[in-house]
Amino acid sequence: MNEKAMFQLTYGLFVLTAKDGEKDNGCIINTAGQVTAVPNRISITVSKENLTHDMIKKSGKFNLSVISQRADFELFKHFGFQSGRTADKFAGYDACRRSGNGLYYITEGTNAYISGSVEQTIDLDTHTMFIASVEDMDVLTDDLSATYAYYHSSIKPKPEKPAEQGKTVWRCTICGYIYEGEELPEDFVCPVCKHPASDFEKVTG
Ligand code: FE
Repeated sequence: MNEKAMFQLTYGLFVLTAKDGEKDNGCIINTAGQVTAVPNRISITVSKENLTHDMIKKSGKFNLSVISQRADFELFKHFGFQSGRTADKFAGYDACRRSGNGLYYITEGTNAYISGSVEQTIDLDTHTMFIASVEDMDVLTDDLSATYAYYHSSIKPKPEKPAEQGKTVWRCTICGYIYEGEELPEDFVCPVCKHPASDFEKVTG
């Protein structure tokens, strides 16, 4: 079995936003898609570690903003590499607007948003899948959507030459963080984007 087959699947990238009382939050996901057309339904799958996950479970509502190829790395850092449990991601953030359901959607580096109302919740151990009916949606720009592959090839900063001659370092393939050392501990978690050791690649200078 070649597990690399999983890398051949295509994924979009999205800012998923939700609200609990007065608190707004958002995170980045790559797992969303339309599942039925009549009526219009989408599915999203969200890690239970995300505060946005808990907010959607409680409120049954979310907005999905589709990230475009105009998005910069800052958008990913802002919504992807910090937690809403410790940071207020919407404090002083003005590239957003509220849709009819009262939730924020993102207006820069995005090309559409879809408002979902949860119909079904499926427990998938580390993640929850939400099946939602579409309450509202709009196209924001004509920019092409960013795929996960596009993020890796064109949005993520290109690393400077990371390893000195004869030295080995480990590079996070998600955010570019460099771990210096010959061996990367198995339980290592990237301090920037929180991805596990399996998302690091060995770079030899
Ligand atoms: Fe990382």
